[in-house]
Amino acid sequence: MSSLTDLSVHELHELLIKREVSAVEVAKTYLKRIDEVDSKVRAYLTLTPDQALAQAEEADRCLSRDVEEATPLTGIPMGIKDVICTCGVRTTCGSRMLENFVPPYSATVIERLEAHGAVMLGKLNMDEFAMGSSTENSAFYPTHNPWDLERVPGGSSGGSAASVAARTCACSLGSDTGGSIRQPSSHCGVVGMKPTYGRVSRYGLVAFASSLDQIGPITRDVTDCALLLNVISGYDPRDSTSIPRDVPDYTLSLIPGLEGCTIGLPKEYFVSGLDPDVERAVKTAVSALEGQGARLVEVSLPHTEYAVATYYIIAPAEASSNLSRYDGVKYGLRAQGFKDLTDMYKKTRSQGFGPEVKRRIMIGTYSLSSGYYDAYYKKASQVRTLIVQDFRHAFKDCDVIAAPVAPTSAFRLGEKVDDPLQMYLSDIFTIPANLAGIPGISVPCGMDHNGLPIGLQLMATHFGEQSLLKAAYNLELAMGPWRNWPAV
Ligand code: GLN
Repeated sequence: MSSLTDLSVHELHELLIKREVSAVEVAKTYLKRIDEVDSKVRAYLTLTPDQALAQAEEADRCLSRDVEEATPLTGIPMGIKDVICTCGVRTTCGSRMLENFVPPYSATVIERLEAHGAVMLGKLNMDEFAMGSSTENSAFYPTHNPWDLERVPGGSSGGSAASVAARTCACSLGSDTGGSIRQPSSHCGVVGMKPTYGRVSRYGLVAFASSLDQIGPITRDVTDCALLLNVISGYDPRDSTSIPRDVPDYTLSLIPGLEGCTIGLPKEYFVSGLDPDVERAVKTAVSALEGQGARLVEVSLPHTEYAVATYYIIAPAEASSNLSRYDGVKYGLRAQGFKDLTDMYKKTRSQGFGPEVKRRIMIGTYSLSSGYYDAYYKKASQVRTLIVQDFRHAFKDCDVIAAPVAPTSAFRLGEKVDDPLQMYLSDIFTIPANLAGIPGISVPCGMDHNGLPIGLQLMATHFGEQSLLKAAYNLELAMGPWRNWPAV
């Protein structure tokens, strides 16, 4: 038998309900593995071993009372991106500003996971306030890619993806505002889904850009993704943007065969700048989907070239407003030694925020200012509508769009961190789904010549998660399940 930490959630669940292993044993095995490898990967910011063991004991009580009471997540050890509020457990957002912030309540997704018996191992590293694509913008330390410790895991949910790949948690939650679940999942060789905007409650998710942010699962395989999505999805009266719509059983979409499914290849996504290894892997994956019965068509998303510029106005604009609450009065850091109130604001915000966050606040404030609003924010909102229309058009001709997740595999630590524009450009293929509010998934589809994983991105229309899961599952079937884990 492979080691416990190599198992997927559904495999672990089988052992737990057969009582071949206890939830406490599983939690202890994970805590030991974290102890052994996290000093290299640095995926965790906070560990919660006491809470994990208490939750595991509770899971064992449930399992021994009546296995019928157990859910697919009972006793499953998880990690949580540190942008999601956990009552009584420090939630830093990767920022000095919230270094000692302990939320007095939990996010809705956390309440749901707890109600399903999941076990929380700790909180995972991220770019500060989820702004970045490499986890190097964490105020604490960068996370390392388990496939090559000299490389970034992607970001901003780099800790969430790296920990799943490094087997220091069975699955995790991330957040995706402009690719932050899909891009690190692609770079770490795991499955990551950004659900439809409104599918998962954002209550308790620290806001970055509220019209784009969405929480989603990061898992070892597509089945686990469906299981987690079942639990976190659904209407929440505490999030006015969550949509009152029934949650199907997503595992029912995991069926072989793609007959009747049309897959669209957007011609604007296969252009120069795309790494040849990525292009080859994506095309091989698309052929594999065709082999499963899908029909391929070319589609066009003509406004793709404006997506990065549009996002990097809208997201900073919303961020500049959302982050105005960190002023030393109510949340988090308050600078010492100030003269008056204005001086306290200035000192607190100067000391509490890192350079990328400051850059975003300045871009956002500028583009919202009265003289520039029409030229920047309003224009960007209009282009956003055009991008929504592009997708609406494309989905008349296909059920699922297949594309790369990122133009390259994981880059080296330090390679782009001093060049924000290069970093922003690497988000080109993930940002459009956020601007349109549609769901997207990254599924491992191959390796580059350096042995680094590459993901295939699938996108569907609003609430098309079932089509995504079905296509992603068929890719797994065609390519063989992803069982090649990094040696870390
Ligand atoms: N890389 C993008 C950014 O820096 C996306 C971040 C995200 O999805 N949270 O804004």
